Amino acid sequence: MAKWVYDFEEGSEQMRNLLGGKGAGLSEMTRIGLPVPPGFTITTEACKDYQKRGYISEEIKQETLEHLRKLEEKTAKKFGDPENPLLVSVRSGAPVSMPGMMDTILNLGLNDEAVEGLKKLTQNGRFAYDSYRRFIQMFGDVVMGVPHEEFEKILSYHKEKNGFKSDVELTEEVLKEVIADYKKLYREHTGKDFPQDPMEQLFLAIEAVFKSWNNPRAITYRMLNKIPDDLGTAVNIVMMVFGNMGNDSATGVAFTRNPSTGEKKLYGEYLVNAQGEDVVAGIRTPKQIDELKNEMPETYNELLRVANILEHHYRDMQDMEFTIERGKLYMLQTRSGKRTARAAVKIAVDMVKEGLITKEEAVLRVSTEQIDQLLHKMIDPKAEVKVIAKGLPASPGAASGKVVFDVKEAAQRGKIGEAVILVRPETTPEDLEGMAHSQGILTTRGGMTAHAAVVARGMGIPCIVGAESIKLDLENKTFVVNGVTVRENDIITIDGTTGNVILGEVPMVEPELSGEFEEFLKIADELRKLGVKANANTPEEARRARSYGAEGIGLCRTERMFLQPDRLPVMQDMIIAETPEERREHLSKLEPLQKKDFYEILKEMDGFPVIIRLLDPPLHEFLPQRERLEKEIEELRQTDFDSELLKKKERQLKRSKELSEFNPMIGFRGCRVGIIYPEIYEMQTQAIVDAAIQLKKEGFNPKPKIMLPLIGHVNEMRTLREKVEKIVKDKLNEAGMNLKIEIGTMVEVPRAALTADQIAQYADFFSYGTNDLTQTTFAYSRDDAEGTFLPYYLEHKILEKDPFMTIDRDGVGKLVRIGVVLGRHANPSLEIGVCGEHGGDPESIEFFHYAGLDYVSCSPFRVPIARLAAAQVSV
Ligand code: PEP
Ligand code: MG
Repeated sequence: MAKWVYDFEEGSEQMRNLLGGKGAGLSEMTRIGLPVPPGFTITTEACKDYQKRGYISEEIKQETLEHLRKLEEKTAKKFGDPENPLLVSVRSGAPVSMPGMMDTILNLGLNDEAVEGLKKLTQNGRFAYDSYRRFIQMFGDVVMGVPHEEFEKILSYHKEKNGFKSDVELTEEVLKEVIADYKKLYREHTGKDFPQDPMEQLFLAIEAVFKSWNNPRAITYRMLNKIPDDLGTAVNIVMMVFGNMGNDSATGVAFTRNPSTGEKKLYGEYLVNAQGEDVVAGIRTPKQIDELKNEMPETYNELLRVANILEHHYRDMQDMEFTIERGKLYMLQTRSGKRTARAAVKIAVDMVKEGLITKEEAVLRVSTEQIDQLLHKMIDPKAEVKVIAKGLPASPGAASGKVVFDVKEAAQRGKIGEAVILVRPETTPEDLEGMAHSQGILTTRGGMTAHAAVVARGMGIPCIVGAESIKLDLENKTFVVNGVTVRENDIITIDGTTGNVILGEVPMVEPELSGEFEEFLKIADELRKLGVKANANTPEEARRARSYGAEGIGLCRTERMFLQPDRLPVMQDMIIAETPEERREHLSKLEPLQKKDFYEILKEMDGFPVIIRLLDPPLHEFLPQRERLEKEIEELRQTDFDSELLKKKERQLKRSKELSEFNPMIGFRGCRVGIIYPEIYEMQTQAIVDAAIQLKKEGFNPKPKIMLPLIGHVNEMRTLREKVEKIVKDKLNEAGMNLKIEIGTMVEVPRAALTADQIAQYADFFSYGTNDLTQTTFAYSRDDAEGTFLPYYLEHKILEKDPFMTIDRDGVGKLVRIGVVLGRHANPSLEIGVCGEHGGDPESIEFFHYAGLDYVSCSPFRVPIARLAAAQVSV
């Protein structure tokens, strides 16, 4: 027979799927002897059973009752007992953490009689009746859908009537009136009396938790976080402990390390004399955990002790919920804490040093997305900024955008690409969509663990919370702070790293990377098998690539150099030239410029290989646009019809027409141009070798390699290799220099992969140009597909993924594998890499690792990501 319910003593961390994260954590803490109030967990399987049937089966009910009875025995309390009532909390907990998504009910078991029992027991009527009114409110709202605001209205009414400013002033007598009004409200909305039978309360609450698995905000959260819909949630029934029993009681959350910076120090917040969700809800601004040391030193030490045990036990930073009841600490939850990218890196590095985790584990503790976040912009420290307010730095990074107060509007405008900053008093789980599409989030209330803070950190969106000096006026869509009025659509900048709110847009700079960031990536380097190089075309890019740890350049696209303003006219003259001599003449002007380019790049990459690709695009790409030429010619003809300029333009137009192709991407480009106009590659090769010779003479260690683009037939490879090799040899002989300059090819047409064994006989290396290889394998134009059919394909799952972003393993990937096997068979020393966009995509990197490539090459900014992705697939 299936078992649907587990006491905390029966479960463990291993049973996370069955017991949910919270249940598994409570069981595990119980198992290792930490102070957890007694309770039990109804499994996720029971939730699935409920979803199937639409009601809770008798079997599950019976089993729940048995465990309830055991709980009564253990606590020596009884459900609904007017002398000594057992009160419980009912809390959801899915196998994957979904903060704030599911609902919690506290103080369940209270009724008109039990409340008297609680009063007697605690000698505190105010407390007992306050607990009861909270229960009715929570139960009414969460289980029966009675609007939360209506309860709040009643409460405010009674506070005002009696001249009370805060909830704590409410007396027992007034609370009784509140309860009577709450019950009336409950009856009006539900048509029934508030249930007095604790069993009825319990099963209605359990059912509400099961149902909440499918409420819209839970579904949105799962969608945004790619959590499967069929996991289900468990339900935890836990004996209540009270953080609101007076000033020796409290409730709070704590992290074993700082989740924002990673610093190894207990971090968190608590509220004295408060219950349950008060901290997370961000309604009262809580105290820093350090203060607990002064307020309740013994309990603080106990918390420290527990935190230590938990961190060592789980070998990860923990996020804990706790309650202090009359000085005694109870743990209500533990889980691996969400953290910023910066903290993730520091914690991983520190834990390796502390011997808590292995290097292999460390590289799995930081995601490539987090590394990406760290490479994001921050406010230029030199910029003059006008700080108008300061809040808590809840999620790092800076963002500018238009102020929007309405969550729905933020979602709509953000979705179409507008930069908006969402400004709210606080956020709730309903606001997820608007948050996800904002560039930044600013709230005026709440602490570092408020909903906005937790969610923004998870999403990697800059966020400031608790900016209390800001006075919001949602009705008039403005806020006022220190005499400044900010209206909807005004631009502000928020700095989630410092907590500064700044008026207007602010210059941003690329991030400085911390020492730990370097250390972390060095750990990744030790573990990875794939090499990581960068695609870089200029000395600046080469420098950045080195600073991010690239081990050379895997693709230097030389054509980009011809597009610079001082070179383009010469290039154009070369293209319209009619004889090889004329072409050579123009090329000779470009040669010193090219040599200088190569010299600088090779110098920047001293000692590391630099793969220089000879000219690749079709020549017409360098000529002015045809329409523009036609217009210019027309204009010139009207003024002066015999000028040199006019003639030149006319020749350009003629040439452009000659070169125009219906299908330029599979046209006259790459090695085809190199073969028809050998002068071009000649010049480039000379420039490369000359640059290397000069550097060598100056004592550097240049390592250029020459790469031929778009080879599809061995004869192309052979012909060009012979030409290039001869120039290299002649030049080196002339200079009396001994230097190895390898010659290889891009593999970017299917025929090259399929005949890799032939081509490899003439190639020292292969580099997969997966951009073109994807284009030519699918016969999708890489320049047009995104703007035409591809979005539809992706939306309707005709394709799972954009093949230009993530390698198509089945098709393009198969060609890669074939090329590797054939190529290495023919030439065992063949070096093989990839230099298409896929070289910086973690999922594709995984594939290249398994395909046996030697390295990946990607944009300098993605080099750290590639280093980590390559390590993650190796461990
Ligand atoms: C490629 O085709 O993958 C490649 C790297 O070359 P390019 O993007 O310059 O065509
Ligand atoms: Mg290409």
